[in-house]
Amino acid sequence: MPQLYEKSASAWQLNAIQNALFVDLDGTLIDIAPEPEAVIITDRLRDILTKLHIFFNGAVSLCSGRSLKNIDALLHLPFLPVIGLHGLETRLNEDTVFRTSPSSFLLSAIDEVTNFASQETGLIAENKGAAIALHYRCRPDLENLCTDFVNKLTSDVAEKLVVQRGKMVLEIRMPGPDKGAALIDFMKNYPFQHRQPVMFGDDLTDESAFGAVSALGGFGILVSTIDRPSLAKTRVKKPADILNILDQPYIQSK
Ligand SMILES: [Mg+2]
Repeated sequence: MPQLYEKSASAWQLNAIQNALFVDLDGTLIDIAPEPEAVIITDRLRDILTKLHIFFNGAVSLCSGRSLKNIDALLHLPFLPVIGLHGLETRLNEDTVFRTSPSSFLLSAIDEVTNFASQETGLIAENKGAAIALHYRCRPDLENLCTDFVNKLTSDVAEKLVVQRGKMVLEIRMPGPDKGAALIDFMKNYPFQHRQPVMFGDDLTDESAFGAVSALGGFGILVSTIDRPSLAKTRVKKPADILNILDQPYIQSK
């Protein structure tokens, strides 16, 4: 991977005519909470996303590991394009929605993970429909135990299920597009096509999208306090920095 380097946010500018924006939610626009449902969504965030949707003529998509249903329940912005479940669910527009159904292999894994999590205080099993997430944020001491469990659970069905690591979370999901593949697909369609894509993200699951925007002539912005390798070109430290970038005033509309 290319070397990560720092660059101040004010050193580059977003252009509402030329850019298309792809924005992760947890850890990028909002602070990560101990439990997925405990995140705080502010009116300011809703206002910023609504304004961006208008300024960029619709070429602004969320790009999250959450499901479409969960994102809509949190944000109440059903007009926003969304790449959800790391690419397994997409809403290009209100008439173009794609969902992946869980297979019997995944349904079985959902039962197993739910049962496993119920046996240890602090572990959370989050059923996302086409994926099951095992959160150990409240029990980092159980990381190895959780990793071994998930690896064993999926080792015999490696072609049927995909294991995806995130920050303090292990996910078992249906095979299918990742964030990068879904982003490339969006970029072939109005209103994203013929624009330069910019991806904002914070986690390992965002790297496929960072790679995709680079391949398409755009760039990625990583939210991280850790100096880790990334395909993103630029780094900021926290979600509040991203909100300040997206909340104008230097976003150009001409
Ligand atoms: Mg994230």
